[in-house]
Amino acid sequence: MTDEPVADRGAERLILLLVGAVGAGKGTQATILSRELGLVHLASGNLFRAALAAGTELGEAARGYMEAGELVPDELTIAMFMEELARPAADAGAILDGFPRTVGQARALDDTLAAAGERIRRVLYIEVPTDILVRRVAGRWICPQCGTPYHEDTDPPREAGRCDRDGTPLRQRDDDRPEVVRARLDKQVPPMLAVVEHYERAGIVDRLDGTQPIERVTDAILSSIGSRSGH
Ligand code: AMP
Repeated sequence: MTDEPVADRGAERLILLLVGAVGAGKGTQATILSRELGLVHLASGNLFRAALAAGTELGEAARGYMEAGELVPDELTIAMFMEELARPAADAGAILDGFPRTVGQARALDDTLAAAGERIRRVLYIEVPTDILVRRVAGRWICPQCGTPYHEDTDPPREAGRCDRDGTPLRQRDDDRPEVVRARLDKQVPPMLAVVEHYERAGIVDRLDGTQPIERVTDAILSSIGSRSGH
């Protein structure tokens, strides 16, 4: 990690922020957008987990917070993102995912980016009503034997409750039980909305209807950032 500012690449680099609750389809859209637009996908949770697994200085510094399920302090989190943004993989731009997660983090990131002559260009907020989010997440089942995922509504097994491949009874992750999903959303949504409002004041938010099919959401995102759809 270094204290040096990122080289000024001009405001042209496309830095996007993707916002959405668990189950909104953020990960799916990030993967598609990163491929279609050549942007690096920077997901805070994944970056921290990778740093932890690799035993880096950052990983060690973040370990205690992550294990306690707390937010890693802003300085560390911002330093990590700025380091990722300085890599050649981010030359065309980046999709930020999972950060900023609070208004405090948003302000700190805005200031740090501004000091490097950059800014978040658009904030893409994938909106899905809570009941639908709960249904999406709580409908997920997995085969404990072979790991095949299923979904009650969109991808059910041929025989209810059993894996198509090996007949093993399917399980639900503890995290995915409806009451746990609701509790996660109750905690997650208010700070997320505050971040969206923060960027709405700057006039850079696009609200997208995340109940639409995946391709429609992608198309809406691409048109909102002025890129043509590839399909
Ligand atoms: P996640 O996979 O997004 O739930 O993140 C896993 C862990 O990484 C969290 O419990 C935090 O310790 C850390 N983390 C992820 N995003 C942030 C963030 N924006 N700010 C601080 N810590 C974060």
